[in-house]
Amino acid sequence: KEFRNNVKPNWCPGCGDFSVQAAIQRAAANVGLEPERLAVVSGIGCSGRISGYINAYGLHGIHGRALPIAQGVKLANRELTVIASGGDGDGFAIGMGHTVHAIRRNLDITYIVMDNQIYGLTKGQTSPRSAEGFKTKSTPEGSIESTLSPLEIAMSAGATFVAQSFSSDLKQLTALIEAGLNHKGFSLINVFSPCVTFNKVNTYDWFKEHIVNLEQYPDYDPSNRMLAMNKIMETGGMLTGLIYQNKERKAYDDMIVGFKEEGLANQDLTLPQDQFDKLLAEFK
Ligand code: SF4
Repeated sequence: KEFRNNVKPNWCPGCGDFSVQAAIQRAAANVGLEPERLAVVSGIGCSGRISGYINAYGLHGIHGRALPIAQGVKLANRELTVIASGGDGDGFAIGMGHTVHAIRRNLDITYIVMDNQIYGLTKGQTSPRSAEGFKTKSTPEGSIESTLSPLEIAMSAGATFVAQSFSSDLKQLTALIEAGLNHKGFSLINVFSPCVTFNKVNTYDWFKEHIVNLEQYPDYDPSNRMLAMNKIMETGGMLTGLIYQNKERKAYDDMIVGFKEEGLANQDLTLPQDQFDKLLAEFK
């Protein structure tokens, strides 16, 4: 099961996205997927290139629209495991409307956000994830907006799987992606993935100092929603690990009345000749 292809990523050396790519490839193999059973749909941004770097079906979509496309793919062909991916600008700015509704819809998709807290592809502007006071070309005096908390938003939107990781922690990240792929429903995995070229504040060292790994709380229960909400707020959203999982709620695709297991892509669309002639006559 080889999820590596021979396309060389054109990310900057040291970019956090390399590890996310490696973690997806390892996790897909570890859960027993075949490349022809995986679709990776991405948005626009440096991280959006990831769909071309994995040996699977890949679709590099449009800005902020990875999730609508991914949901369409899943509804059309339920035999595919679908990963949607992109950056924090893609998913939490222009794409936030889709993100919130995809979360509450709970279709069986794994959404991996490479959160570098800046717009990298356009050479360094403030994103919704940038901290207050963050100086970039677009906010030379420092950002005066508050920072968006994707974990709190996901929880309040009714998420059934919320996790966060750090691209430096390949072991944890791979395990969380495996858990997301195995989760029956929508899984959000936010990954701190440093932009080494344009973000000189939220560096690898900065994340190492600020991250609160859930491993230090052996009694933590990810099925406890209130506990998850409290921990997210208590740590300023810097938690890593499996923060919340609800295994009780059914996935959207399992609840549609009359929705065929094989999905649209595999349905027999052949019409008997008399029905075909009748249909044709209606259009004459
Ligand atoms: Fe990665 Fe930043 Fe370079 Fe983009 S600009 S490839 S996010 S390091």
